[in-house]
Amino acid sequence: MKALTVVPLQAGSVAVVDMPDPVPVDGELLVEGLALGVCGTDVEIVGGEYGWAPPGSERLVLGHESLGRVVSVDSAPGSGFAVGDLVVGVVRRPDPEPCGACAAGQFDMCRNGRYTERGIKELHGYGSSLWTVEADYAVRLEPSLESVGMLMEPTTILAKAWDHVARIGERAYTEQHRVLVTGAGPIGLLAALLASQRQLEVHVLDLPESGLKPELVRALGATYHHSGVADAVSGCRPDVIIEATGVGQLVFDAMQGTGASGIVCLTGVSPTGRHLEVDAGAVNRELVLENDVVFGSVNANLRHYEMAREALEAADRSWLERMITRRVPLSQFADALERRDDDVKVVIDLAA
Ligand SMILES: [Zn+2]
Repeated sequence: MKALTVVPLQAGSVAVVDMPDPVPVDGELLVEGLALGVCGTDVEIVGGEYGWAPPGSERLVLGHESLGRVVSVDSAPGSGFAVGDLVVGVVRRPDPEPCGACAAGQFDMCRNGRYTERGIKELHGYGSSLWTVEADYAVRLEPSLESVGMLMEPTTILAKAWDHVARIGERAYTEQHRVLVTGAGPIGLLAALLASQRQLEVHVLDLPESGLKPELVRALGATYHHSGVADAVSGCRPDVIIEATGVGQLVFDAMQGTGASGIVCLTGVSPTGRHLEVDAGAVNRELVLENDVVFGSVNANLRHYEMAREALEAADRSWLERMITRRVPLSQFADALERRDDDVKVVIDLAA
């Protein structure tokens, strides 16, 4: 099989290599890779900043935003999967001696960091023309999602974020009417999609004045803002902010921008080493005097995959397709890893 690989922590090592076809063990499906979504984590791994190869292997097969088609269920009879099923593989696996969270099925909340992740941490990813996955960590999608199913994994990130926003809200009297999403990249747009499915009034902030991002926001019936966070916040007084840029200043502006009992969910990762001048006292007063909550969210567990599947199935297919701004064959993977200003989601076609 062909696989997109890197030597972790070695910039410039990314290459498509021939590897032996994977052989499913008991309980595993054999899957033909169809497509792979590319995200910032992949770009960081390719840049040598991140990533761990499986023990005993020099290279790591990249890819965690998967989509494939089952070609054999011989090793997983009785799993409920059939040849031809469209599937997505779950990214994270619990640590071998599960911590309390992993033992409770909440491996997204792993306490000890000894979890593993397909395509990121000690397990080969889904960036290959054939892959295997445990049936217990595969999610079947309906056939109509074939063109967009690789959006499933990023959608799970927002399914978890919204799940936690709802649970935090329920700790006391709650009214959530308005949400501001900062950033109209793939994560921000999917946050807005899920918010619109929750019947919230949705506002999205980004920089471009025109083009695809504003169009996709407005197609959800949401309001697009491009004149800064202060204007956006005063224009909508959000009950919830989903921060999807990781821009340090925006994170602190968001923390001070919610109404009473506001909830801010941080999903973006900021680079370290940059210094901001922040009025810590003002941030503290805002959080305390308004009963605000700020929390970070990453990864997703099986329950969130189920929620994400439902969200994608309920979404307008053509809206999801418009999010995919480039599709690149595996042989031209370098193009896919290069960020362009007008990119939203870039996808590598594995079947080509
Ligand atoms: Zn754990």
